[in-house]
Amino acid sequence: MNLILFGPPAAGKGTQAKRLVESRKMVQLSTGDMLRAAIASGSELGRRVAGVMERGELVTDAIVIELIEARLPEADAAGGAIFDGFPRNVAQAQALDAMLAHRGAKIDLVVRLKVDDEALMQRIAGRFAESGRPDDNPESFKVRLDAYNTQTAPLLPYYRDQGKLVEVDGMGTVETVAAAIDKALNAPR
Ligand code: AMP
Repeated sequence: MNLILFGPPAAGKGTQAKRLVESRKMVQLSTGDMLRAAIASGSELGRRVAGVMERGELVTDAIVIELIEARLPEADAAGGAIFDGFPRNVAQAQALDAMLAHRGAKIDLVVRLKVDDEALMQRIAGRFAESGRPDDNPESFKVRLDAYNTQTAPLLPYYRDQGKLVEVDGMGTVETVAAAIDKALNAPR
C-alpha cells in the first residue's frame, strides 16, 4: 500500500506519518527530512539546498525525484511507503507515478489533512520558538504556504480525478486525526 499524506505545512503530516510507521510498519519517505539530513551532513547537496529551504521555496524537482527514487527499494521491501511532503507539484506526481509503475506499484490512496489557515498560523506560531528549523519563521512560513497554495494544491484534482483522494479533518487532536486516517485506510476500496 502506497499512501501520500497531503496538506499544507504544519498540518501534521510528519506526526501522522511517524505514527503509521509504528502501527503499520510502513516506510516514511519525507523529502524534507532527507534534505535536512543532507544539510546536517554537510554534503554538497546540503550546501546547494540550504538557502532555498531556509527561504521556504521549493528545491528543484530533479533533486527530490532522485532522493525518492533512491529510497523506493526500501519501500518495496516494507510493502509500501508513506510519502510525506512529496510530491509537491504535478511534475513530481507524474514522475512518482512513472517510478512506481516501473516497479509494478502505484499510489493507492492520498489522504488530505484539511486545516484552516487561521489554525495553521496558530500552530506554526507555537512552533517557531521551539522548532529550531530555520524555515520556521513568519517570512519563510508565508513563502511555504504560498508555495503550497500555488504549486501543491493543484495536485488535488490530479488525484481526485483518479478516485484516490480522501479528505480528513486535520483540526482535531493527534489521536482524533489518527483515528480518521485509520478509518480511511481501512475502508474498502
Ligand atoms: P517539509 O519538511 O516537507 O516541510 O519541507 C521543508 C522544505 O524542504 C520545503 O520548504 C522545501 O524547501 C524542501 N522540500 C521538501 N520536499 C520538497 C519537494 N517535494 N519539492 C521541493 N522542495 C521540497
